Amino acid sequence: MLNANPTADRDGRLAAEVARLTEPAIAVRRQLHAHPELGLEEHATAAFVADRCEALGLAVRRGVGVTGVLAELDSGRPGRTLLVRADMDALPIEEADDGRPYRSQVPGVMHACGHDGHVAIVLAVAEILHTLRATWRGRVRFCFQPAEEIDVGARGMIADGALDGVDAALGIHLVAGVQTGRLIVVPGVMEGSCDTFEITVTGVGGHAGAPAGAVDPLPVAAELILALRELSLRPRAEPAVVTVAQIQAGTAANVIPDEVLLRGTIRTLDADERGPLREEAAAIAAEIGERAAAAVRFTLGDGCPALRNDVAETARVEAALVDGFGAEALMTIEPTTGADDMACYLERVPGCYFGIGASDLAAGPAHPHHHPAFDIDERSLAVGVEATARAALALLA
Ligand SMILES: [Zn+2]
Ligand SMILES: [Zn+2]
Repeated sequence: MLNANPTADRDGRLAAEVARLTEPAIAVRRQLHAHPELGLEEHATAAFVADRCEALGLAVRRGVGVTGVLAELDSGRPGRTLLVRADMDALPIEEADDGRPYRSQVPGVMHACGHDGHVAIVLAVAEILHTLRATWRGRVRFCFQPAEEIDVGARGMIADGALDGVDAALGIHLVAGVQTGRLIVVPGVMEGSCDTFEITVTGVGGHAGAPAGAVDPLPVAAELILALRELSLRPRAEPAVVTVAQIQAGTAANVIPDEVLLRGTIRTLDADERGPLREEAAAIAAEIGERAAAAVRFTLGDGCPALRNDVAETARVEAALVDGFGAEALMTIEPTTGADDMACYLERVPGCYFGIGASDLAAGPAHPHHHPAFDIDERSLAVGVEATARAALALLA
């Protein structure tokens, strides 16, 4: 029977559950950290997550959005359906060899963004909400998403029904460079839109000593990089950046290659600027392509919109976090041109995505996300578990 006042002793039980699950969460994070998988290849991670959720008695769907997992926990009472999302993918980075015992065992692949921690946190939250299921109403759908870093994971999950019947969504990110214990809550736009583009410049290869006999694609690529960079330097009301971050070409110092591949991103905080920026980048590529002897092909991915936290849902999350951690734990930040495809869920349903400080700054400055020596202060996992559980309960109330 439902207790007349089911939430009365919930805080104490929640704290006890967080304490009980802290060591296991660290163990899960370390195991995932040692066995990272790239986007859409998260087979072992997904199997691990799905098995854990099944063991809890959750209704599990595997292979959602290629390698994603949806696990549903039903309180048995009518109420909202809340999506709680964790991303699972790692990055193509060789991890620094600095003696950390949980270093990646996969050459060239590393959890350098903290997604291992997100999975560990959300698995613990699933266990807590399961234990406390007599104290809340509605359903929670835990969404373990692949391929956040390559911008296709959320889209695939949504196409496969992740948001069907969902009323609100909750997402988290561990944040290096912010002290463990601090929580970052931003109502409204928190991160910019992000569109990935790819440009291939195709010429005719040849001998470096006889460039006249070739159509060298490299100078064309250089011109493209500089012209696209101009878009970032232009004065604007809201920040926007166009960055070429990847170049592939050539095999030797004395061989002109056939082709150059450029890849990069277009990011803006101004939703009205997203379309025009994409069009301008395409126009620059077309214009340079017209003048060049080499062929220029510009393609744009689906991208993700700016990440917008719903003001009302975020206020509920904020109140719950102040309750649990005190107002001094919370901080806000200016919106950044970072991006997270959590934005794709929040474009469709209201919700909140918040940051969890994950560095011990007393021990020195933290390496940034995507750095080969990136790491988290594992004490942030307990904070993350409690904060995410409290936020979820607030959005279910
Ligand atoms: Zn990342
Ligand atoms: Zn990330």
